Amino acid sequence: MSGVGELYERNARFADGFDKGDLPLKPSLSMIILCCVDARVSPEHVAGVALGDALVIRTAGARVTDGAALEVRMLWTLMSMATGATPNLELVIISHTQCGMERFAVPEIAAKVTEIFGSSDVVDTYAIADVNEAVSTDIERLRADASMPRELKVSGHVYDIATGQLREVVATSTLG
Ligand SMILES: [Zn+2]
Repeated sequence: MSGVGELYERNARFADGFDKGDLPLKPSLSMIILCCVDARVSPEHVAGVALGDALVIRTAGARVTDGAALEVRMLWTLMSMATGATPNLELVIISHTQCGMERFAVPEIAAKVTEIFGSSDVVDTYAIADVNEAVSTDIERLRADASMPRELKVSGHVYDIATGQLREVVATSTLG
């Protein structure tokens, strides 16, 4: 069976007896989770995020790309328009150990990727030399972006692939 066929089989089992058809748009945890695309770190599994709990954005390395930053602003605006009030939304960035983006920090690989893409943009955006530092840098980047809502609460975390444990790297604070 093809990969997609497998998904349909699993969906049929999921939809059998489905009773979550009336969940509201607003996530129950008032949270946007930004995590890596890595198949080993889905927040549904590692942090028990259930249907209706959180908005989830995934980028390679959980990096705050231009697209991810725009997405956060857009979601903030959407929630603001939907409720007519300042959204009570928190951005939770979850990076992880053993990330594939660490490879882009290896000089020879970085040089090759830069050659393939014709610029250093990909390496500059995604490379992770130190996971704690990457999370801190991305949060500072959001803080320095005047277009981001000041009321947005942000925190940074690292999920350990080897132990299954999540640890805080940057405590929650508003971009203020
Ligand atoms: Zn990753």
